[in-house]
Amino acid sequence: MHKYVRISGNKTAILLVLSVMSMLVVSVLWQGSTAVVSFEKGHIVMLDPGHGGYDPGAITNQGVYEKSINLQIAQKVKEMLGPSGIGVFLTREEDIDYVPDGVKGRTIRKQIDLNRRIDMAKEANADLFVSLHVNATATGQDSGAETFYHSKSETGKRLAELIQQELIKIPGMNRRIVKPGDFYIINNTSMPAVIVEVGYLSSLKEQKKLQQSWYQEQLARAIAKGIANFFVLP
Ligand SMILES: [Zn+2]
Repeated sequence: MHKYVRISGNKTAILLVLSVMSMLVVSVLWQGSTAVVSFEKGHIVMLDPGHGGYDPGAITNQGVYEKSINLQIAQKVKEMLGPSGIGVFLTREEDIDYVPDGVKGRTIRKQIDLNRRIDMAKEANADLFVSLHVNATATGQDSGAETFYHSKSETGKRLAELIQQELIKIPGMNRRIVKPGDFYIINNTSMPAVIVEVGYLSSLKEQKKLQQSWYQEQLARAIAKGIANFFVLP
């Protein structure tokens, strides 16, 4: 009887430890602007702030560069995921590209730059690749965030949906749905990959918000939460 009680006590203790552990793994707490998520070790995300260096991406008449906004948001996502235990890497931490001097030709330069980022994700053993961009159109009519995935990747689609689901919660955001996209980077990564276009620089209203840190934080939090949810949900 005594022995039985002891065993049962141990079992209870083990169960308790296990349930606390699983709570740590499953619980996603968002305190203020910081994401507090706990995970078992081993999840790695490669964040790719689109463009950089010679390639500014979209530019406004006022001289706002897409490449700068992409980097600012990526750094915020990294910061927010920091305490979660998810390993976060950036393809660039500053305003650079990966094209060696002397390489000519628009397409080849772009491809060399993207190939380096794709390789970085592979070398880091990343589970996910998330490329961040800002959109632009000639008309200036469109606005809002959009997330793209590779049409043949179910996992990519799930990641895209989890991110987009958070983005559309941002006040004032229109409710776009995820779309399959034919982009070099998501066609060539070896892990599930998405492109998040956080908004439109061509929209005057959105252009102002995109440059502001409070709005970038809202976008970053949504992206971070989408990524965290990907690893929490089965
Ligand atoms: Zn872009």
